[in-house]
Amino acid sequence: MIEPQAHVAALAAYPLAELKAPPGKRLVSLAQNESCMPPSPKALAAAGKAMATSQLYPDPDWTELRAAIAAVHDIAPETILCGAGSMELISALMRCYGGPSADVLSTQYAYAFFKTATVAAGGDYRWVEERDFTINVDAILEAVRPDTRVVCVANPGNPTGTRIPNHEIVRLRAELPEDILLVVDEAYGEFSDDPADHIFALAERGDTVILRTFSKAYGLAGARVGWGVFPSAISGHVRKLLHPNNISAASQAASAAAMLDRGYMRAVRGETIARRDHFSQQVIALGLNAIPSSTNFVLIEFSSVNSAKTAADALLEEGVLMRGMAGYDLPHCLRATISNAVDMDLSIRVLSRLFESRSIR
Ligand SMILES: *Cc1c(COP(=O)(O)O)cnc(C)c1O
Repeated sequence: MIEPQAHVAALAAYPLAELKAPPGKRLVSLAQNESCMPPSPKALAAAGKAMATSQLYPDPDWTELRAAIAAVHDIAPETILCGAGSMELISALMRCYGGPSADVLSTQYAYAFFKTATVAAGGDYRWVEERDFTINVDAILEAVRPDTRVVCVANPGNPTGTRIPNHEIVRLRAELPEDILLVVDEAYGEFSDDPADHIFALAERGDTVILRTFSKAYGLAGARVGWGVFPSAISGHVRKLLHPNNISAASQAASAAAMLDRGYMRAVRGETIARRDHFSQQVIALGLNAIPSSTNFVLIEFSSVNSAKTAADALLEEGVLMRGMAGYDLPHCLRATISNAVDMDLSIRVLSRLFESRSIR
């Protein structure tokens, strides 16, 4: 018998949504926090152009893409690393600074991939409790141990959608020992961006990495492009662990063009936020709890596990797939990505019918 490494054998497969509708129904996926709009037309044009010379390997230094990110965010291009999704960057960071005998600390409802990447790298994953579905900086600080090597937080959080102010992230960093890497995953950062209040400058300390992605606000989940601001002392090592030529030429061109098309991104963001707030209000009017969101999704809290299950089943009968939260130990919750108005209205109609028939309470 050929055996894998013990930590790999013990690793559970990463839980993705099962994207299947009942026979004859159109699938309405509200399960993966994808954008409610296609990418910018400029991104599509740039990708097409890049495909024309795709007999060549892509730029290993992501030159055009880094220049676009740097110009928009007013940071130096050398501080940026790009990954095949921010998942590749998270995974490389864990292999670089986590690994065997390292304690990796995160929070109760943190992004599930933090744990997967930690365990895949051979490290030990721990979490501290959140308060009202929100990161509690003091609890993180209290839980730090001498063997803690990495602290990772998603802000805004997924699946909670909640956000702590950046000054709390700054305080977390200031009070953590300097030999602990802090990873701040801002996959949904664009949905709550305050230009006067960004934290990219934290990377200058040498012990903090801030991650972003094109998968959410830019509508490019299918292109697989993530990026981050890295201190120079860290980026050289992480880069050794990224695959050479990790991002296809088409994806690099598309994401650079999408970054520069500020008007399009802002329009999509504005539309998403308006629909999200409308949806949350409707959910609350039904008598459910919608956790206040700073993202493109809403965590819905039902009165019981049974009600959440009944709702998920009834939604799926209409083809609507929301994400079950049992894996996050929130079996009484469903997470709904904000999609177009027709799909959101359909979801509200199904939920409303369940209340009227007293199938859920
Ligand atoms: C969606 C998401 C990501 C993005 O991963 P990509 O690999 O860039 O698609 C990262 N972190 C969080 C918290 C997310 O929700």
